[in-house]
Amino acid sequence: MSQEATRALAEARRVLVVTGAGISAESGIPTFRGAGGLWEGHAAQDLATPEAFARDPDLVWRWYRWRRGICNAAEPNAGHRAITALEASHDALTLTQNVDGLHARAGTRRLVELHGNIDTARCTDCATLRPIGELGGAGVPECPLCCEPMRPHILWFGETYWDGTLDRGIGFARDADVCLVVGTSGQVTAPAQVALHAKRCGALLIEVNPAASEVTPFADIWLRGPAGQVLPDLV
Ligand code: NAD
Ligand code: ZN
Repeated sequence: MSQEATRALAEARRVLVVTGAGISAESGIPTFRGAGGLWEGHAAQDLATPEAFARDPDLVWRWYRWRRGICNAAEPNAGHRAITALEASHDALTLTQNVDGLHARAGTRRLVELHGNIDTARCTDCATLRPIGELGGAGVPECPLCCEPMRPHILWFGETYWDGTLDRGIGFARDADVCLVVGTSGQVTAPAQVALHAKRCGALLIEVNPAASEVTPFADIWLRGPAGQVLPDLV
C-alpha cells in the first residue's frame, strides 16, 4: 500500500469516489470488456443501446433479466464495504457507473447511480418508473398507467445523462481533496471526466485497478490491484 495514498486519505476531508464495473468483478458480476462480457454471442455494447431495443425489445429484455438474476444473486464485496466505511470518516460522495445495486446494498448512502438500476423499468412513453419485480417475468412489460412498452431504466450507450446526475458529481468535485477512481476502463468518458475535473480543481487522483486504464496517465497514484483487496487496506 502506498503510504502517500494512505496519508492523503487520512488528511482528506472531502472524497469523491468514482466506480465502474471492476469494483463488482469480485462479486462475480462480469465487466463488459473482460472475459464473460458476451451473452449468447452478443457483445454488451450491441445490446445496451436504443437501436437494439427498437430492433428487438424482447432480446434486450431477456438479456437484462439474465443480468438482473446475476446482480441480485451477487453480494457486495470488501471493496463496496470499504467505500461505505469511508462515509463515517469523510464527506464522501460515490458516483457509480454500475447498475447492480451493490453499493446501496453495502450501505453506501450518498450515492449517484449515473447509469440507472437493473431492478427498475421505465415507460417508453410516460416515463413512469416501476420495480421490475412487479411487472411479470417474461416478454416486454407494459406500463401499468398507459399500456405502452417499458424498457430497463438504464442509461444506454449513446444516450445523454439524466438531468442533475452528472452535475451533482461536478459540483462536489470542485472541493474534493481526494478523488478515488475504482475499476473503470474510462472508456465511458463522462464519469472519468468528473474525476479529471476534481484533479484540475486540486484533488489528488488515486486510481485502483489491476490493469492500466484511460485514467491511469492522469492518476497521481495508481494502486495496482483488485478493489476488494486494495480498498480495505487503504480505508
Ligand atoms: P469496463 O468493463 O469497461 O471496465 C472495467 C474495469 O475494471 C477495467 O479497467 C478492469 O481493468 C477493471 N477491473 C477488473 N477487475 C477489477 C477489480 N477486481 N478491481 C478493480 N478493477 C477491476 O467497465 P466500465 O468502465 O465501468 O464501463 C462499462 C459500462 O458497463 C458502464 O457503463 C457500466 O454501467 C456498465 N456495466 C455495469 C456493470 C455492473 O453494474 N456491475 C457490469 C458491467 C458493465
Ligand atoms: Zn406509461
